[in-house]
Amino acid sequence: MQKIIDGFLNFQQNVFPEHSELFQRLAKAQSPSALFVTCSDSRVVPELLTQQDPGDLFVIRNAGNIVPSYGPEPGGVSASVEYAVAVLKVSDIVICGHSDCGAIGAIATGQCLAHLPAVAHWLRYADSAKVVIDARQHATAQARMDALVRENVIAQLANIRTHPAVALALEQGRLNLHGWVYDIASGSIDALDGNSRHFVPLAANPQTCALETKGKRAPWGP
Ligand SMILES: [Zn+2]
Repeated sequence: MQKIIDGFLNFQQNVFPEHSELFQRLAKAQSPSALFVTCSDSRVVPELLTQQDPGDLFVIRNAGNIVPSYGPEPGGVSASVEYAVAVLKVSDIVICGHSDCGAIGAIATGQCLAHLPAVAHWLRYADSAKVVIDARQHATAQARMDALVRENVIAQLANIRTHPAVALALEQGRLNLHGWVYDIASGSIDALDGNSRHFVPLAANPQTCALETKGKRAPWGP
């Protein structure tokens, strides 16, 4: 804990004064361009891997980068999605999974979660990804895991489209969706191409987005 407090002291004494203009501006309002949904994993740092400043990203983090589909009892994730899209009017939503994800690994290996009832309940929101992966052949356990990380991103993109604020923004053409998978070992990102439904390297395909761009809605959408 001392390391964390020392970090804060360094921030207050050195970093904050260097960026005082930015923080004074942010003290009055925020206008993030994107909603970034990712895992709570300590190795995934959205602002670091996208080189964004405070105020740039509205972030939701939880185990498995999950977005429950909208329903009669919306929870904290739903409230944050609604606020980001309806009030902050973000123009883009990124759902970012990652390699070696503990939550997805538990699903992929069929790990017993009886002693983790909250985790077991939460990961049910990835059931649609699991059944898709279970129906396919995988050469290795690692290949199955990698496929599930990607399919979970696709599943959560479908879930987020059930949120009224998101559905309306998509209908009005003022929102774009992105499905990413961050690889911790290489620092690379693969992005879902909405037209081919394949993940491609973002570095070589910077315009890639999860929405189909051929005049039709993405096949997994509502
Ligand atoms: Zn994770």
